[in-house]
Amino acid sequence: MSEPRDRLRHLLRVIDDDVEPVVRRYRSHIECAKGCSDCCHQTFRISNLEGAYLREGLAAASPELRADILARAHAYAPDTRAPCPVLSEDGACRLYEHRPRICRKYGIPLWNPQRPERVDTCPKNFVGVHDIDADLIIEPQARWAEAWIEIRERDEAARATATIAAQLTVSVTEDA
Ligand code: SF4
Repeated sequence: MSEPRDRLRHLLRVIDDDVEPVVRRYRSHIECAKGCSDCCHQTFRISNLEGAYLREGLAAASPELRADILARAHAYAPDTRAPCPVLSEDGACRLYEHRPRICRKYGIPLWNPQRPERVDTCPKNFVGVHDIDADLIIEPQARWAEAWIEIRERDEAARATATIAAQLTVSVTEDA
């Protein structure tokens, strides 16, 4: 597993596998469900490496879906709480398998190695929960952070970032 894209794919699988037991254990304290797309109304800046992976999903989509997402991406106004160009009218991610790291963490308390003393949650989630299982929630995120640092050290495309909309509109020929 040497290619940055392979390393990213592996990390995304690890994140999915680590998030699943958190959601299972705290399901009754997590309001995330199809129809709530608050998270998808933020302007995320994702790495070029993740952008190329998202475009892989876009390239595999039907021509109609691809055209719709691209039209929305070109019209996207950042930092206005506009919906992500990938979001469907009924609140679903239309490139779900190719979504970036940040989108795979929806619902769980987020830990940031730069602010290790705290976790952040959506105001709708974990209401009234004062004690979280650090082994289940924080330890995995520390491992994701380490893995991402390793990827960033090896690959310039993991260091540069742009909005999801900007990533979608990069010409596919640049991915070759
Ligand atoms: S890529 Fe998908 S999950 Fe991520 S913000 Fe866009 S619609 Fe939401």
